[in-house]
Amino acid sequence: MLRAVLFFYVFYLGFWLNEMFFRKRTWREHLWGHMRFFLFVIDGACQHSGNCCRSLMLVRDGVSIDTMAAYDAMLKKTPEHRRFVPIFKPGDKPEQQIHRFRCTCLTADNLCSDYANRPKLCHQYPMSMFIKVGYIHSGCGYKVRFRGFYPYVKHPVFWSFVFRAMRDNRLSNEQLQSLRHH
Ligand code: SF4
Ligand code: SF4
Repeated sequence: MLRAVLFFYVFYLGFWLNEMFFRKRTWREHLWGHMRFFLFVIDGACQHSGNCCRSLMLVRDGVSIDTMAAYDAMLKKTPEHRRFVPIFKPGDKPEQQIHRFRCTCLTADNLCSDYANRPKLCHQYPMSMFIKVGYIHSGCGYKVRFRGFYPYVKHPVFWSFVFRAMRDNRLSNEQLQSLRHH
């Protein structure tokens, strides 16, 4: 644990320096991407609800695929993603924003009909979801939890990332505060 804490503060130093001198969004996101694994952990088990295959988000290079143009560009690079069909909000036309995707490989029994060839993001679920969009579905058997480490740092940008992750993963401030006494 001591080593992990040390690494956290090394990444935080980089984060702090970026906020002080450069304010580069990509560096900020990149460093937060490392730091969050010192703060959060994923546990639980799949309960075969199929929710992750029925309602998923696709992200490429850190940007959500939410237009048909972005979807078509993605299919050129990863044709195996053709199985993911865009879902629009009720009343929206196809030229409007894509809300979610559903996978055509999900069977009525909530099984994957192409399990052997499922894309990388499915292989790596739920970690892929946490890495790309920062949260796990509320109905999923996997959950994001605190790892047990309280970061004694003050930067408001850092804390805005922490609170966003807590909100998205339904973690309370009481749970965070309880880490101070560990
Ligand atoms: S949403 Fe979670 S519990 Fe449901 S099938 Fe996917 S991984 Fe399993
Ligand atoms: S390929 Fe299989 S595991 Fe991946 S989203 Fe589709 S049904 Fe789910």
